[in-house]
Amino acid sequence: MDFDDSPDEAAYRARVRDLLEQHADELLHLAPGQEGVDARRQEPEMRRTQRVLAEAGLVGVTWPREYGGQGGTLVQQAIIAQELARARVPGLINHIGIGMCGPTVIAHGSQDQRDRYLARLLRADDVWCQLFSEPASGSDLAALRTTAVRDGDEWVVNGQKVWTTLAHVADHGILLTRTDPERPKHAGLTMFVVDMHAPGVTVRPLRQMGGQADFNEVFFDDVRIPDSERLGEPGEGWRVALTTLMNERVAIGGAGGDIGLPVEALVAHARDRLPELAADRQVLARQAVGRAVVAALAARYTGYRRLTVLSQNGIPGPEASAGKLAATEAARLVSDAGVRLLGDEAVYAATSDGDDRWPRTQAWIPGIAIAGGTDQVLRNILGERVLGLPPEPRSDKTAAFSAGRPAGGRR
Ligand SMILES: Cc1cc2nc3c(=O)[nH]c(=O)nc-3n(C[C@H](O)[C@H](O)[C@H](O)COP(=O)(O)OP(=O)(O)OC[C@H]3O[C@@H](n4cnc5c(N)ncnc54)[C@H](O)[C@@H]3O)c2cc1C
Repeated sequence: MDFDDSPDEAAYRARVRDLLEQHADELLHLAPGQEGVDARRQEPEMRRTQRVLAEAGLVGVTWPREYGGQGGTLVQQAIIAQELARARVPGLINHIGIGMCGPTVIAHGSQDQRDRYLARLLRADDVWCQLFSEPASGSDLAALRTTAVRDGDEWVVNGQKVWTTLAHVADHGILLTRTDPERPKHAGLTMFVVDMHAPGVTVRPLRQMGGQADFNEVFFDDVRIPDSERLGEPGEGWRVALTTLMNERVAIGGAGGDIGLPVEALVAHARDRLPELAADRQVLARQAVGRAVVAALAARYTGYRRLTVLSQNGIPGPEASAGKLAATEAARLVSDAGVRLLGDEAVYAATSDGDDRWPRTQAWIPGIAIAGGTDQVLRNILGERVLGLPPEPRSDKTAAFSAGRPAGGRR
């Protein structure tokens, strides 16, 4: 692919830049040295920022116009992401809604659900979360035990989800449940849209090793969901979930966006710090920086190439897993090299109010290597579905779920 903007792309970039300048006073901006914002503390500002951007036509550009999008291209979306980063506007509060929940509602929701939810999601009138993982099912997602039992025109949900990013500020979630334990584990699942303010939903924060609490555990006690909030047919939940998961892998680094600190920040940091390191440490730090730059640029350009393929056929396939793997590995090398350049100061930086970007990012990256499919699971997907290698032995694929493990309820 050609990395320079085409004349149309350059004009689009100029328009985006112009809009960001026009609305600068209404947008949240990162302070110098600040790399992210905490939705717990700045929820109103983050919602406002997304609303302003949505009204300017800069959110969900690839979504169809009938659902509030612009019918634009992935390249335009990448241009907006680059310009937001350049203007130091932080990531959107509803990134899970835009990247994963919305596309799932578009693909599998009823017209009524699309009309009710999508425009509000883009404006962050409603924030969304993804309620898939449970204490005993993460990689093996289809082993989940949260049950939904039909009761007339409603379903009654009981169980527990965990690691639910943004559940503490969310208004809606997409919820994967077991509705038929007598069928094999992948066949007995059903997806719903759940109102996070409904009676019986309890959200408890979980603190990460980097200090922030981005995610939560969520309990469902006799939560009632109208049948009209089902996404797809009963028993079709796995197919619906695959739409979400493939979009998730593209959203996390699959399309050329850097994860964590950009490689340019590492190069600037290296220029600053290398002369101050003792000779023996300098050699190792140079090697670490070199390895990180190569990995980051390779991941970025491979992501751009994937973007081109995606622009042509639209639907992310299993190869999206390779992008997430490469971007995460690059991010790990970049943050490790950044910490190495700090030397002993990294210890103080991590615990003081100083420039703690590098140790903080280093503590955050392992989570990204787990979220949306762990490195090992993505390698399995690549082996089986891209390279056509023999699959892992799976003894529980055809038996009724109830034959293997007890179904339903909080553990
Ligand atoms: C920052 C972050 C945000 C998240 N946000 C959300 C969210 O919003 N919503 C949500 O539903 N979930 C979320 N998750 C959960 C995430 O999807 C799961 O953590 C992930 O799927 C892994 O599941 P697990 O934690 O149960 O680990 P496990 O599945 O128990 O894995 C443990 C280890 O075993 C390895 N392993 C497992 N199976 C295999 C295999 N077949 N072959 C080889 N190795 C294997 C794994 O790679 C891992 O190293 C988030 C997680 C993180 C870290």
